[in-house]
Amino acid sequence: MNSNVTLATLPIRSTSLVAAGERLLVVVAHPDDETFGCGSIIAAASAAGADVTVVCATLGDRGESHLDLSPEQLAQQRLLELHLAAQVLGASTVITLDHGDSDFGGDLPDGSLCAIDERIVVRQIADVLRDVRPHVVVVLDGSDGHRDHQRIRTATLAAVEVADACGDEIAVYESSLPNSLMRQWLEEMRSIDPGAAYHAIDPDSFGRPDDEITHVIDATGVLHLRKLAISMHSSQSSPFDGLSPALRDAFLSADHLVRVG
Ligand SMILES: [Zn+2]
Repeated sequence: MNSNVTLATLPIRSTSLVAAGERLLVVVAHPDDETFGCGSIIAAASAAGADVTVVCATLGDRGESHLDLSPEQLAQQRLLELHLAAQVLGASTVITLDHGDSDFGGDLPDGSLCAIDERIVVRQIADVLRDVRPHVVVVLDGSDGHRDHQRIRTATLAAVEVADACGDEIAVYESSLPNSLMRQWLEEMRSIDPGAAYHAIDPDSFGRPDDEITHVIDATGVLHLRKLAISMHSSQSSPFDGLSPALRDAFLSADHLVRVG
């Protein structure tokens, strides 16, 4: 009997995006994005023998912190944390672009990543691409709505287009959190704190649709490094704190990506 049912394409599963001798470039907006967002991808690439460079656009001076620090002091603290975490994860190089943190909302501070002309950021990343010549670039997909995450994503994708036009062939991936996982997180948060604002979140549009995920990295072999790197960001609250062990492991033991170029 004939059937018109189309089977969904299953994501490709592996233990690293890059192989020994290849170069991976990870571009993020704030210190901790490289670890909280895609630390296992860095650790797995390094463990596989690849060279990893992390570009961070700001020093996260507007981030929330339990430490009583001025924005300037917080920036210095977070720069130190970025370097410590990158070392734990095995990145060889950290490059900062030294723009200000735009914060999640409100008026844009002068000199912040979203206040400056995006073409400046594109040019900076294009310069890094020319120097590093990565085989693979990873950005966060910005689906959490933070404007700095969205800005660095669009600037990076534009910079890769410039590099591609010059003849480089770069595979580009967006690190994502699948909707199925975010639904579990939402359920757990609601049960812990029924009065919180989480009730307003629409579960259907939370995270990345599962059928868009093209690659899954099994990160169980580098889980210890990811956890250690998370602890290096001591000025920040880990988004994985307070979760049940099962859900925390679900977040940390696999990384989900969408290949976009
Ligand atoms: Zn961030």
